[in-house]
Amino acid sequence: MNQEAMIERVRGFVKESSKIVVLLGVGTVIESGGENFWSSRECYRIEDIYHKSPDEMWSVGFYSARRDKFYEFYKKEILNFDLKPSSLYYDLKKLQEEGKITKFITQNMYGLHYDAGLTDVIELHGNVHENWCPHCGKKFDLDYIKAAKNVPHCDECGTAIRPGVMLFGESIGNELMTEAVNACEEADLILALGTNMYDNMVRFCTETYKGNRLVLITKEEHYMDKDADYVIHDKVADVLPKIFN
Ligand SMILES: [Zn+2]
Repeated sequence: MNQEAMIERVRGFVKESSKIVVLLGVGTVIESGGENFWSSRECYRIEDIYHKSPDEMWSVGFYSARRDKFYEFYKKEILNFDLKPSSLYYDLKKLQEEGKITKFITQNMYGLHYDAGLTDVIELHGNVHENWCPHCGKKFDLDYIKAAKNVPHCDECGTAIRPGVMLFGESIGNELMTEAVNACEEADLILALGTNMYDNMVRFCTETYKGNRLVLITKEEHYMDKDADYVIHDKVADVLPKIFN
C-alpha cells in the first residue's frame, strides 16, 4: 500500500472510531523543538561535557549520591528548552473535543500536552512542572527550580526538592500502568505518534490490545515498524491534518 492509500485507510478508521488511544512518543517533543537525549549524538555530547553518560546521570542512584551534579545536568540540559507544542497537539485537541479520544499516554515530561489543552493524559514518567518537597510535601513549579542557584530547597523546611520526573531505577506506579493498559485494551484504534514498536511504553501498552488497528506514525524508521498494523513514515504534524479531516 502506498502512503496515500495508507492515509486514506487510517482516515476511515478515525471516522469510525470513538475510543481512540494516543501514545505520544519523543518524536512529538522533537517536532516541538526538543532534543532526544538518548540519541547517540546527544549521548556523546553529554559524555564530553560531564564525563558521564546521560543514562548514568538520569538515575535515582546519581540523584541521591550527587544531587549537585544531577541538578547541574538537569537544569542545563533537560530544562534548557523553550518548547511550544507543535500543531500536532492542537489537531489532537480538536479530535478530543469531538469526543473521539479516550486517553493519551506518554513518557514525555515537558507537559506540552497540557500547554495545548489536552486532557485525560497518563504521564508515565511524570513531568518537569510538578516538583515537591519529600519532607513536607510542598509543591514547587518549574520557575522555582530554574531560579535556584544550585540544588533547589524547600522554602518551608529546607529539604532538597525532588523533581517531578521519573528517574532510571524507579518504577512506574501500578495504578498508572493498569490505567494505561486498560485504556489500550478497550481502544478501537491506537495511534502511536513519534515513537517505534521497540519503545517500552508502546510494547507494554499494546501487549493486551486485541484489535488490528494499531497505527504508527513517525518520521524515524525502525526495523520493528512492521509490528504495527499500519505505518506512515512522515512528520506527525503533516499527517494528522490529513487523517483527521
Ligand atoms: Zn519542605
